[in-house]
This record gives sequence, structure tokens and C-alpha cells, in this order.
Amino acid sequence: MLVTKYYSIVSGSSALTRSIQNFTNNYSQGGGSMNLAKHLTDIELSAKILRHAVPKMSELNIPVTPVNYAVWYEYYLGINLDLKRAIDGLISNGITFCTEVNDGLHQNFIQEKSPEVIENVQIETQIIINSLLNKVSKLTQGTANFSNTLSDFSQELKQKPDVEVLNTLINSLVDNIEGVVLSNKQMQGSLNIMRDEVSSLKSEMENLNLVAMTDQLTSLNNRRSFEDEVMKHMQKYTQSQSPSCMLLIDIDHFKRFNDAHGHLVGDKVLAYVALALKQVVKGTDFVARYGGEEFVILLPNTQLTDALVVAEQLRTAISERKLTLGKDKKLSLGSITVSLGVSTLNIGDNRESYFVRADEALYRAKSSGRNCVCSE
Ligand code: GH3
Ligand code: MG
Ligand code: MG
Repeated sequence: MLVTKYYSIVSGSSALTRSIQNFTNNYSQGGGSMNLAKHLTDIELSAKILRHAVPKMSELNIPVTPVNYAVWYEYYLGINLDLKRAIDGLISNGITFCTEVNDGLHQNFIQEKSPEVIENVQIETQIIINSLLNKVSKLTQGTANFSNTLSDFSQELKQKPDVEVLNTLINSLVDNIEGVVLSNKQMQGSLNIMRDEVSSLKSEMENLNLVAMTDQLTSLNNRRSFEDEVMKHMQKYTQSQSPSCMLLIDIDHFKRFNDAHGHLVGDKVLAYVALALKQVVKGTDFVARYGGEEFVILLPNTQLTDALVVAEQLRTAISERKLTLGKDKKLSLGSITVSLGVSTLNIGDNRESYFVRADEALYRAKSSGRNCVCSE
């Protein structure tokens, strides 16, 4: 699927991609300084977003965080017309881009719109950046070689015998050549600057990638990240029969916490459970927030019997503590309990069937009175 996506992007879904293609085509055709100048224009076009977005963000006092940058990247990409209209409206009405506004833009136009948007921006940008870095380093290498050849040549000419006419000619040649060397050096300088800009864009994008795979409230992996991980476990299972188990965890009567103490306290309970899950499992285990008050854990190289032991450890670790909140620990929430469903990966499973068995087991845990573990 990813391959298809790559293909559809490379086959020309945006102006940036097209510019990269022009760049690649022109570069492979070779040619003289005119082509070199054209390459420079194409690279500039691709780095344009970075150059516009960052100064504009600082002019509007918007911190350049990955989340905010994703919004402004989209804005300057110019494809998301609703986002463009919204931002232009905010600017023309003199609205301050405070945290709420920035987060709202991200939520409504980047996150909400679809994870696809983020994914496409990322994949697309990554292709552009990798390709640019590749081409730019080849180009700067070529330019450096050319400069060296030219300066060697000029050195040789300077040592030729001293007939007067020849001397004048040589001098003028040397002048010309030095001019070429100089202009190449300048060109190389701007290519290097460009390469640095693109490198920093690349690291921004890596941050963005991390943001897109992380649940903001708990800092756990999010559902998309979980879905990628399940596929990896299934591949491993097909290749080496490496066993794998899934634990689905749901907080009991969570709605009551929200209803009694408000959403902020509810959010703290979620963070508490997330932390407890992380603390109990091993580093190689994969913990994610599946959605709402449901979490999921993937245990690689684990048989069902061992997974049940881990599930029981999680259940007791969470329920043993009494949670108190607030400055002076005034708000006592009592014990938080969770119900767990466990499934193990079978031959012929797909993502759905593997998950559904854990979900059905969880359902049984709920109907057996909660605060317990059931397996498939
Ligand atoms: P059960 O034991 O059957 O699981 O009961 P429950 O109350 O946990 O389950 P239910 O599905 O009825 O309610 C889940 C609640 O979780 C409802 C929803 O408002 C709340 N919720 C979902 N996401 C969040 C969130 O991000 N923050 C907060 N505070 N609450 C959330
Ligand atoms: Mg639930
Ligand atoms: Mg629940």
C-alpha cells in the first residue's frame, strides 16, 4: 500500500513533486551552466515553503513547533484551500495566533481532516528532501571538481613561455577562467546554503512524523502507530513463527470519573493508567492508546500463558494504588481498575481478526464483573 502511495506521489500529485521531477530530469540530461542555473531555481522552489513559513510564523509570534509548522507547511503548500481561507481570515481580522488558535488550526485542518493529509505531506516531503539532498550533494561535488579543473588549468597557463601576444591572450583567458571559477564558487555557496536549509527541513519533518505517531495526552504511541506495529508482528510471525500476543485494556467505569470530577481529572486518570502500563511492561513491548479510555499492548516473542501473567500484573499494579490528585493530594479518586482481553496471533490472522478476539475477550471480562483478565 505504501508502495502504491509512493508511486502515486511520484507520478505527480503536487507542484513540489513536479518540481523535483523537473529537477531530476534536467539533472540527468546533464548540460552547462544554464542547466545548473535551472537546477538552482528548482531547488529554490522546493525550499520556498521553509523560507516563507518560518519568517511568517515568527512575524506572527507563532512558535515553530512541529505541530504549528505542519499548519504553515500546508498553508504555503496552497492545496488545502479551507485552511488557507481560515488563516487569511484570521490575519485580515487581526486575530492573535495564540496557543488556542494555533492548536485549533492544527486540530481542524491537519489532524481532523485526516491522518492521510499528514501522511501524504510527510511521505511527499521526505521523498523531495531525500531526492534533493542526493542531487544537491552530487551537484556540489560536480561543481567543486569543475572549479578545481579550471584553477589547475589557469595555473598551467600562468607557467607558459613568454611571447608577448601569447601573454596577453593568456592573461585574458586567465581573467575569464577566474571569473568562471568565482561564479561557480558563488553558485556552490548558494547550493550549500540550500542543502543546509533542506537538512533542517528534514529534521522538522522527522519531528512531525513523531508527532503524527504519538498520542498527545499520554505520550504513548497512537492508534495509527499501533496499526503499523501489528503489521510488523504479523510479518515476523509469517517469516519465523515468532509468537505474539495482544492485550486490550479498558478502564472500568471511566465515565464516572468524568461525570464526578470533570474531563481534566479524567485526562489525568488516562495519563496515570498510561504511565502504569509503560512501567510494568518490558522495553520491547509496544504500548499504545487505542482511543478514548482503551489501550493496547503488543507483546513480541510471547506465548498466551505468559501474556496472561503480564495482563494480571498490569491489572494488580493499576488497582493496588489509590489515586490522589491536586496540590495537597486532596482529591482522592480511590482505586482505578481496568479490564483486559488477551489474544494470540494465529496462522491466517489479519489485523481485524487478531484484534476482534482480544476485543471479545475484553467484553467477557467486562460482563464477568470488571477488574479482571479474560483470554480468547
Ligand atoms: P466500562 O467499564 O463499561 O468500560 O464503562 P466506561 O464508563 O469506562 O465506558 P464508556 O464507554 O461508557 O465511557 C467511556 C468514556 O470515556 C466516555 C468518554 O466521555 C470518555 N473519554 C473518551 N476519551 C476521553 C478523553 O480523552 N478524556 C476524557 N477525560 N474522557 C474521555
Ligand atoms: Mg471503552
Ligand atoms: Mg471503559
